[in-house]
Amino acid sequence: MTNCFILLAAGKGKRFKSNNPKQFTNYINKPLFMHSVDKAIKSKLFKSIIIVSNIPIKSIKDKSIKVIKGGKERYQSSQKALNFIKNKKFTNVFIHDAARPNFSIKLLEKLYSNLKKNKAVVPHIKTDNSVKYKIRNKINNLNRENLLFTQTPQCFNFKTLYNLSKLNKTKVTDEASLFLNNNKKVKFIKGEQNNFKITTKSDLKKISFKNFYGIGFDIHRLIKNKKLYLGGIKIPFHSGLKGHSDGDVILHALIDGLLGAMRKMDIGTFYPSNKRRFKNIRSPNMLSPILKYLDKEGYFINNVDINLICEKPKVSKYREKIITSLSNLLTINKEQINLKGKTVEKLGLIGKEEAIACEVIVSLNYYA
Ligand code: ZN
Repeated sequence: MTNCFILLAAGKGKRFKSNNPKQFTNYINKPLFMHSVDKAIKSKLFKSIIIVSNIPIKSIKDKSIKVIKGGKERYQSSQKALNFIKNKKFTNVFIHDAARPNFSIKLLEKLYSNLKKNKAVVPHIKTDNSVKYKIRNKINNLNRENLLFTQTPQCFNFKTLYNLSKLNKTKVTDEASLFLNNNKKVKFIKGEQNNFKITTKSDLKKISFKNFYGIGFDIHRLIKNKKLYLGGIKIPFHSGLKGHSDGDVILHALIDGLLGAMRKMDIGTFYPSNKRRFKNIRSPNMLSPILKYLDKEGYFINNVDINLICEKPKVSKYREKIITSLSNLLTINKEQINLKGKTVEKLGLIGKEEAIACEVIVSLNYYA
């Protein structure tokens, strides 16, 4: 089974009142549409991603992502994309509006698992509002229990959707409508409150984040004939850090900080030092599963503050390199990372250059 993810980003967004269409506006550290692209990639559910846009997107380098031109109306953009992939042998297709950047990867997984027994799976939410409707001049009550507010991503068996879409000449606001208009079954699953559509500028501020903080500490002895790794890079020095792994105190303290903020115990639980398979493991390889988990759960790193405690090497000399390495490993901007060097007045093991310690505080944003 192969899946394709179609991202509809061709809308004009008249209510957004900006020269830059809303799907390209900056939203939580990146263009709004990229949130959906990144989640589709991270879910590993898709062989290909098609972005439908009326503005050329030059920043896309990934070969599995294609950008095609859209139509005037949403349903025409969707038709164009389905036409574009018609010979590419996809079993399923997910269609998503770029104006909904806040869905979770869990929702993608839930949609996909329901698609095994259905040809159309659509998320929906209920409303808390009382609902009225107007016929001529009379206002009537509507039972809100019977109302379904559909969201995207919606997912479908490709062939079934393609055939329905090909014949459609009328304006529909989502693909679920095509199924319902043709009396075909749609499986509705629970959507997400945060997966709202960004329509006006005030919607950009609508999501409320929860903040979580985590603290991490680590210390390793320095020994001769070992390479010194700090923040994922090799630092020229007379000794290296002793340990089961490469002894990278910065990454170890950082992992504990991240786990702390996610309330997921500590580094030792994930990497017990009595397990042979973790022997001599490089610390970036210890960090990456933690970052995958962080992404999947819907956390974002807000900032990282680090105290590296040692007499030598001089932190000022390697600060830029270490921050660059951390920014690459964490895929965050350098401006989100701070590294301070602390000496200990030649006191104790650290003062005698026999150990290096590190403490880290991380702050995470969370939305589910
Ligand atoms: Zn350690």
